[in-house]
Amino acid sequence: MSSEHDDARDILELTWIAFLEEALSWESTVRGWRVSTTMRPDELRASVRARLDLTKANPLDHLFEEVRNVLRAGLTHVTHPRYFGLFNPSVRPAAVLADALASLYNAQLAVWAHGGGAIELERLALETLGERIGFGPGCHATFTTGGAEANASAVQCALATRFPKWTQSGVRDTPPARIYVSDQGHHSMLKAARMCGLGERSVWEVPTDSSLSMDAVALSRAIDSDLAGGVAPLMVVGTAGATGSGAVDPLPVLHELATAAGAWFHVDAAWGGAASLSRSLAHVLHGIERADSATWDAHKWLCVPSGAGMFFCRHPAAAATAFAITTGYMPGNSVEYEPYASTMQWTRRAIGLKVVLALGELGLDGYARLIDHQTNMAERLRVQLRARGWTIVNKTPLPVICFTNDLVRKGKPSAVSLANRIQARGHCWISPVLLKGESVLRACITSYQTRQEDLDLLISELEGCAVESA
Ligand SMILES: *Cc1c(COP(=O)(O)O)cnc(C)c1O
Repeated sequence: MSSEHDDARDILELTWIAFLEEALSWESTVRGWRVSTTMRPDELRASVRARLDLTKANPLDHLFEEVRNVLRAGLTHVTHPRYFGLFNPSVRPAAVLADALASLYNAQLAVWAHGGGAIELERLALETLGERIGFGPGCHATFTTGGAEANASAVQCALATRFPKWTQSGVRDTPPARIYVSDQGHHSMLKAARMCGLGERSVWEVPTDSSLSMDAVALSRAIDSDLAGGVAPLMVVGTAGATGSGAVDPLPVLHELATAAGAWFHVDAAWGGAASLSRSLAHVLHGIERADSATWDAHKWLCVPSGAGMFFCRHPAAAATAFAITTGYMPGNSVEYEPYASTMQWTRRAIGLKVVLALGELGLDGYARLIDHQTNMAERLRVQLRARGWTIVNKTPLPVICFTNDLVRKGKPSAVSLANRIQARGHCWISPVLLKGESVLRACITSYQTRQEDLDLLISELEGCAVESA
């Protein structure tokens, strides 16, 4: 019996060592891989089934290797320095360590009595970051699974504030309400509207101007026409760093219009929020400090593994009303703050521990350098693209570049087929994006490890694939 126990311990140790070796050499390892998978869905499914039989007991070291091999072969590697993709970052090693620690302790953050230590660590990180966007101590702040949960939390806080009966009778006893978001805003607002019983039609897509920012005059007109028609302006959403183009809405003007209409002002800075840490970029977020609530994802530009969103709300009473609950089976409300009764989740993992370790290791200045590095890489890429005859179609100091040229405009090749070809070759990953009906290419500096040589390779892929598909 004891030798069986010793064997299991040896295997566990060997497996941890294998993980440790992989984690410590990650940066150089991933650089040598393809960014995208070559496996078709059916091949991948068959390979998983051939490798793993979950009905029987498997030795952990073997299991670990099989699972890891599936991940290696079957993923788009978003931590690759040439993943110029959506906002999924290369992750800070300190954050990986923190995630393991969170699992080991399995801290339960529903109630303070169970999760106090983790809650206070998270609170320190939330206050440190929140202050950068004008949500200092005294505001409500929580880690969420991501931006979608944070945006939905904002809608619930707005409803609970604007329509006090909403928590009891839902939208039955409320007038028809409207959420205004730009046509470049994130579609999680639609899900939030459905989830709250408002329905998609309550979301008004406000047109954007030539720089893809919300047209404030159009917003003002939409609000006036709603007020005249008996529709209550519930919430104005300012997007700060649109997913497609990085566009930032004119936040101060939106704040004024929202306030005049009695609407909640929410800023969705899921990706862009990190600009607040950089001296040269912070101005982009001007006006976020006036918002009633804000969304900022740590699992985007703060380079920690998903899911780690953040929801900030200036009115703790709104969150307390929106999420209030009492039960006979939870330890009582003995302290000022019970997460299960002021946030959307119930049992909750210590999501924020990875932010505590990553932020603590780098400090605010270290993060500023990381963010500035990515911004500089993007500026270099813009210069290189222009020099090679590409046209940049978005205007933002944030590191996302949307571009096209005359041949792509004529579909020779189209942005979609050019991106597909580049993805299939596996050296780089970029995507097409539809901006105001035009399909263009989109490259985001998503990794803090992207270097000049990676930009050069992207340029040569773009040129090589353009010729090949012409
Ligand atoms: C990514 C994103 C979201 C959604 O966040 P998740 O973390 O994916 O849930 C919301 N808004 C914007 C602007 C985003 O870029």
